[in-house]
Amino acid sequence: MKIICIGRNYADHAKELNNQIPEEPVVFLKPDSAILPKGNAFFIPEFSENLQHEIEVVIRINRLGKHIEERFASRYYDEFTLGIDFTARDLQSKLKAKGLPWEKAKAFDGSAFLGPWQKVNEFDLNDLNFSLLKNDEPVQIGSTRDMLFSIDRLIAEVSKYFTLKIGDLIFTGTPAGVGAVQTNDLLDLKLGDQSLAQLRVK
Ligand code: ZN
Repeated sequence: MKIICIGRNYADHAKELNNQIPEEPVVFLKPDSAILPKGNAFFIPEFSENLQHEIEVVIRINRLGKHIEERFASRYYDEFTLGIDFTARDLQSKLKAKGLPWEKAKAFDGSAFLGPWQKVNEFDLNDLNFSLLKNDEPVQIGSTRDMLFSIDRLIAEVSKYFTLKIGDLIFTGTPAGVGAVQTNDLLDLKLGDQSLAQLRVK
């Protein structure tokens, strides 16, 4: 399986990193080795002094598809969760400045945290409120209403380039409020008022 990630899908987050609002989705990949095994703490890798959290809505593909039309895209997923796209921001900034790929900053082991899967049909995915609390303080508050590209549009766009396979994941971008994590931080991923998952930083 593969993990497809979308960058700059919320205008307020693009602005906080001084990035332009994209005209088409910014896409990068993580390998399956990026998934943090269930129950593990997140260990800050030694190569970063500015390891940041990005809470994101994640969908799981349940049908094989290529060149999927936006109007049919909702047939290709029936589960979603909240996850964290962990990012070595210092390393990413260096790579971006040199025009180099981001993978070392974005796709390292443990950089993809996933909460428990939820049934799509029990929620309105175009009006989903979510937040990330760090040590009980809200640091990122988002709504899928504010996405520049909807989930169905993302599926249409990425499937122009990549065949989507059963089990593939799409991280759909992060709202504003990204920031560094420190050893012993407790991250709480909330869907509406409900805590969906917690993660300890080591
Ligand atoms: Zn991200």
